[in-house]
Amino acid sequence: MKIRVLGAHKFESRHARHTCFLIDGVLGLDAGSLASSLSIAEQGDIQAVLLTHQHFDHVRDLPTLGLTTLDDGKTIGLYGLPETQDAVHRHLLNWELYPDLTESLGSEPPKFKLNPVTPGEGFTVMGYSVSPISVPHTVPNVGYVVRADSGGALAYTGDTDSDISAFFKDDLAADVVFLEVSFPNRLEGEAQITKHMTPAGLRSHLVGALKAGIRLPKMVAVHMSLEHQDEIVEEIASVAKELSIDLTPGHEDMELEV
Ligand SMILES: [Zn+2]
Ligand SMILES: [Zn+2]
Repeated sequence: MKIRVLGAHKFESRHARHTCFLIDGVLGLDAGSLASSLSIAEQGDIQAVLLTHQHFDHVRDLPTLGLTTLDDGKTIGLYGLPETQDAVHRHLLNWELYPDLTESLGSEPPKFKLNPVTPGEGFTVMGYSVSPISVPHTVPNVGYVVRADSGGALAYTGDTDSDISAFFKDDLAADVVFLEVSFPNRLEGEAQITKHMTPAGLRSHLVGALKAGIRLPKMVAVHMSLEHQDEIVEEIASVAKELSIDLTPGHEDMELEV
């Protein structure tokens, strides 16, 4: 399984993009930078997208991905919670901001096909087994463990400040877990209100997991606030050192093979 980190941040700038991943060139994980970071040919290779939740930084590129590839006659499967799909449909693909790409705009089939997922109920998409895991956020949010039939598995929690040990214990056994760390420790109040993780919050969850005897795989922190990046990276490094774990910050265009 080849993983490309297309975006590793909570916001955008010239050199930073919304948190988003591409697996083996065909499966998108969230859509915050699924068009803006890829060539037109690469966008055309995408066959399905797993969505964690409805927040704009996770769905933003769906309309442009759909319109750029509209004429290729291929349908992209969108997987997500019913609440997520409903919000995207009502607020984004609604003929006000953009056309409704879940219906045919002419002779071509619909660009997007909505496939609702249920937390705890695994499913397969192309050559991947997917396990959706519910974790709390300010809106319904589901993370995923994705295992390729050809080998290798990743997990991605989406946005949450809650216990993420389910991603370490899932039967699909992720080789790498992408998790969010949005704020530095001194902004704990802001993190609590918006239900995002700080390095200290993550530390407490990981200490709990270690005490429970859970083996922690490689972990990559994403969804970092751009303006606090240096602080977050420093605080993540001290957690990794203290707990002797493989926890590093992610970055745009990072590539991993598992
Ligand atoms: Zn969010
Ligand atoms: Zn987010």
